Amino acid sequence: MRVAVVGAGLAGLVAARALSHDHDVLVLDKGRSVGGRLATRRIGDATLDHGAQFFTVRGDALRRQVDDWLDRGLATTWCNGFSAPHDGFPRYCGTTGMNSLAKDLATGLDCRTDRLVFTCRRTENGWDVVIDDGEVIEADALVLTCPVPQSWSLLVQAELDIPEELFRRHYHRTIGLLTVLDAPSAVPEPGGLQFDATDAGQPFGFVADNAMKGVSDVPAVTFHATQPWSAEHWDDDPDTLRDLLLERAQPWIGAAGIVEAQVKKWRFAGPVMPWPEPCWVDDEHRVVLAGDLFAGPKFEGAFNSGLAAADAVTDFTAD
Ligand SMILES: Cc1cc2nc3c(=O)[nH]c(=O)nc-3n(C[C@H](O)[C@H](O)[C@H](O)COP(=O)(O)OP(=O)(O)OC[C@H]3O[C@@H](n4cnc5c(N)ncnc54)[C@H](O)[C@@H]3O)c2cc1C
Repeated sequence: MRVAVVGAGLAGLVAARALSHDHDVLVLDKGRSVGGRLATRRIGDATLDHGAQFFTVRGDALRRQVDDWLDRGLATTWCNGFSAPHDGFPRYCGTTGMNSLAKDLATGLDCRTDRLVFTCRRTENGWDVVIDDGEVIEADALVLTCPVPQSWSLLVQAELDIPEELFRRHYHRTIGLLTVLDAPSAVPEPGGLQFDATDAGQPFGFVADNAMKGVSDVPAVTFHATQPWSAEHWDDDPDTLRDLLLERAQPWIGAAGIVEAQVKKWRFAGPVMPWPEPCWVDDEHRVVLAGDLFAGPKFEGAFNSGLAAADAVTDFTAD
């Protein structure tokens, strides 16, 4: 089958890899690079993860993938937890940043970036995937891995029976601050601080020193605001936002000077309430919705949802 995968985040790449042995798979993403929320930004000599910071492994499928990354030096163990007592699960990260793991998964796939999918139209035998520049790609099956409200908007004219409680699922927002410093930060070992991101009383949900983590050659700290703070300040003007975040970040910037500070907003940072199934499947029209809403949030959820989407597409062939 010709399978179009929309979204080159973790779920889309995992689905595409699993399907690429037996099918003609094309991955489309609106971003300049693959990875989605596995995002790493270079600012001068600094390297900062600004989406996912680390991941844990619970299941066998991700275990196999991570063992391979560890063997090849692509992933590393950052620490065993950010506060005592430790729960026994190592915190892994990409050795040169989280995005490098996505790039590894994309190797050998037909991945086309800078392709904003505008709509997906049903045809007599499958799907027309319409790119915003007017290009139309024909596919026999479709895997959509964008955050679900975005996937749903692509299917709005397709008249599928998508449950309303699925496409109305909420995602929380996260505002991030990326700072490059001229001296080491005041973040304590192991270079990561985790707070309750839903607690409005906390200054941040996560603080990550990218140099201590081993990702950046120069001091560079990522701050993720809590969910309530991000929602409240979402529409603040950029300068106000930057100043407010820098004020809150001061205890961890310490005596270092700020070389550069950038604000990054994630509109669909993570699902508020996950969907109980690992993906949503319409066998009749050969379409699957997947992503971190489905198989449990976060890195491993997206990974497992991508695998489940590939299984669902494989089942289409058996029909
Ligand atoms: C700030 C932040 C911190 C996080 N921290 C952690 C953490 O520490 N640990 C952890 O395990 N998880 C963390 N996560 C969650 C983790 O990053 C996600 O669960 C996971 O990366 C989601 O992968 P995905 O493939 O489901 O979605 P995404 O990565 O969002 O991929 C979807 C892709 O679809 C593309 N797309 C959307 N619309 C279109 C369109 N119309 N046309 C073409 N392409 C389109 C997007 O560009 C994107 O690349 C964090 C997320 C954020 C935002």
